[in-house]
Amino acid sequence: TCGICVEKCPFDAIEIINLPQELEDRATHRYGDNAFALYGLPIPEKGKVTGLLGPNGIGKSTAVKALAGEITPNLGRVEDEPGWDEVIEHYRGTELQDYLKGVRDGDINVARKPQYVDQIPETFDGNTRELLERADERGVLDELAERLSITPVLDQEIDSLSGGELQRVALAATLARDADFYFVDELTPYLDIGQRVTAARLVRELAEEEDKAVLVVEHDLAVLDLLADSLHVAYGEPSVYGVVTDPKSVRNGINEYLRGYLDNENMRIRPEAIEFEEHAPRPVTEAETLVDYPSMAKSYGESEFSLDVEGGEIRKNEVLGVVGPNGIGKSTFAKLLAGRTEPTTVKGEDTDLDLDLDIAYKPQYVEADQHMRVDAFLSSITDEFGTSYWNTEIAQPLQLDRIMEQNLADLSGGERQRVAIAATLSRDADLYLLDEPSAHLDVEQRVLATRAIRRYAENHESTVMVIDHDIYMIDLVSDRLMVFDGEPAHHGRASPAQEMRAGMNEFLANLDITFRRDENLGRPRINKPGSQLDKQQKRDGEYYYTQ
Ligand code: ADP
Ligand code: ADP
Ligand code: MG
Repeated sequence: TCGICVEKCPFDAIEIINLPQELEDRATHRYGDNAFALYGLPIPEKGKVTGLLGPNGIGKSTAVKALAGEITPNLGRVEDEPGWDEVIEHYRGTELQDYLKGVRDGDINVARKPQYVDQIPETFDGNTRELLERADERGVLDELAERLSITPVLDQEIDSLSGGELQRVALAATLARDADFYFVDELTPYLDIGQRVTAARLVRELAEEEDKAVLVVEHDLAVLDLLADSLHVAYGEPSVYGVVTDPKSVRNGINEYLRGYLDNENMRIRPEAIEFEEHAPRPVTEAETLVDYPSMAKSYGESEFSLDVEGGEIRKNEVLGVVGPNGIGKSTFAKLLAGRTEPTTVKGEDTDLDLDLDIAYKPQYVEADQHMRVDAFLSSITDEFGTSYWNTEIAQPLQLDRIMEQNLADLSGGERQRVAIAATLSRDADLYLLDEPSAHLDVEQRVLATRAIRRYAENHESTVMVIDHDIYMIDLVSDRLMVFDGEPAHHGRASPAQEMRAGMNEFLANLDITFRRDENLGRPRINKPGSQLDKQQKRDGEYYYTQ
């Protein structure tokens, strides 16, 4: 062992052996004896957007809280905590010295969007307008509300907003503050692709036009590409320690992170690279029908939203991807299939829908406030719990080993998501419905979860429907694609599933966004609007698959 890791070195790398002393001098914060420790801090820069990329549990939020002055860094000294003076002295000669002094003396104003927006309703009692008016020091409320499409929910109580709405309200509230430094702890969870691009633009404008410093923690690499001027990578052993590197170019930072090797630091951070599979769209094969669902319509008494579903077929053993903007009725469709809500009409008549389907459903917002251990919870769902088959197919790819003994209520967002995916797939059902499985997962977890869902469907001869905004996950996991369109919060239309190429083209044409593959690791990147590639692909009508 090298003295940092509690047990064994998680890396095959020898390089790490040289690290401890160097690291100890850079300790920023330790939560307690034998508790998580953070080394280094990112440095936000005026007029720039600085990105922070790293796995879950590596200290990104800790770093943000330290910079935002919500945690006083203890330099790793749990016993004799240094005061502010000592901390500032410690950073003498670095850019952080002035920064931390400013934070201590209140000369620097900071605004922070917290990672878990789901918790905002617990601390704020009132409607959206009240929350935003309180934050609106720059007098930009109307513009932000308009561009982030939150005008329709301005008079709605905060505790009635969906996750995607809360995320945009929280972002608006942060950007509306008159601060010197802005911290956005995860921009994209629950946002659809169009909203992600808008949010990225707003953040860029704040830096460029208002000359502000913005630090953004983000797992969506396509968004980091659009957003950041430079990138710090965080690495280490999740829950044990994390190290923040010096800034890199966005391109190098992402590539080094994915490859698992940091060039400047000369450091292996993962035994193997994260690779993005590039493949031609899957050919559609003939298969038996699992269910023919009829055309149906759904409207809610309490909102003006209505959904029209054109009748279609779900095939046995297929993975059906579902895409479309937020508020367009994707979850409503899932709930209709699952029998959790009744259609208003079926084939134009006022009759019931009886699909006789056994459905395992993972809702979009995963709640887990039970005081029960993860292993007890999962073994209560399936007899296969703990078998080598279950371990290989479910526990391992979803990285459940480390959290089996934890309480459901204590899990982080990403941990809770993985447990919920495992629980859903472990049930016995005709159709598995996963609503936004990528939310809160880091890059590696997304790749692993995608593979796990795909393999599970193949090996278990199950039928799975995956609703997600992560284009890579959708591409890799799906045999066919169902595209929703319409006007969010007003009217949605669900077309029958189609083959992947046609579906992706229809979906991305609605958004006017084309993707290319990065020449290095094959990850999907958004083309600059109006660039050669963008124009060419639009002319060819190929928005995603270029092979
Ligand atoms: P990230 O944002 O990269 O996912 P965090 O900074 O939230 O990571 O957490 C890093 C580690 O620190 C995690 O293991 C987390 O459980 C632990 N941690 C976070 N906050 C506290 C706290 N207040 N007390 C003790 N441990 C904490
Ligand atoms: P998506 O999954 O595509 O984001 P949803 O199906 O969750 O969309 O929601 C579609 C629309 O229906 C939204 O405008 C939402 O506010 C509204 N809606 C969803 N559930 C209800 C409900 N129980 N009562 C009233 N309106 C609802
Ligand atoms: Mg975090």
